[in-house]
Amino acid sequence: MNIILLGPPGAGKGTQAQRLVDSHGLKQLSTGDMLRAAVKAATPVGIKAKAVMDAGELVSDDIVSALIGDELDALSAGQGVIFDGYPRTAAQANSLDAILAERGRKLDHVIELDVDENALVVRITGRYTCAACGKGYNDHFEQPIVAGTCDKCGGHEFKRRPDDNEATVRTRMAEYRAKTAPILPIYEARGIVAHIDGMAPMDEVTSAIETVIA
Ligand code: AMP
Repeated sequence: MNIILLGPPGAGKGTQAQRLVDSHGLKQLSTGDMLRAAVKAATPVGIKAKAVMDAGELVSDDIVSALIGDELDALSAGQGVIFDGYPRTAAQANSLDAILAERGRKLDHVIELDVDENALVVRITGRYTCAACGKGYNDHFEQPIVAGTCDKCGGHEFKRRPDDNEATVRTRMAEYRAKTAPILPIYEARGIVAHIDGMAPMDEVTSAIETVIA
């Protein structure tokens, strides 16, 4: 099974993808995570991508499509995949068709999380993670039970993404509206799109996704 999770930044794609990894053994392919790893490791791709990411703009189509192709090549043919944060432009959607066809794969579902942008700004600017284990928290919705101590691993250091500030978030949303939302009709024409209310409680979003892919 190959699935695309679509939705603006902060819609919950990463959280829901993680749940599908746990429940269905799918592999999450997040171009955002791959790029952040490249920035951290200061690879040539990371060095090129850093300023673009910090500004909330989109990294070039060629770079992200190459990353996705390489990741798919490292998987066994039968390993299902969730694309999280890719494709984000029509050019990437076209590349993905070719990338999948070359590897004998096809897209089964495109799941779009519908969300309210203003609520998302609050959600994103409030989010942070444990530096040691990666558990997610939010200033507004989920704080550690003991202030300053991670519930999961007991760590005391937390971090925020540099692009989770309001100005950058607004740019990322504008990029989504201008470049990513317009690719939906490509998939709607194939009859594989499901729209899910991404503002519902997380467990309800998960159940709705489970129903779609069942
Ligand atoms: P994300 O973690 O998906 O919100 O991505 C963080 C940042 O990485 C984005 O704001 C872009 O700068 C870059 N990025 C991630 N995925 C893509 C993509 N598919 N195409 C272009 N840029 C991307």
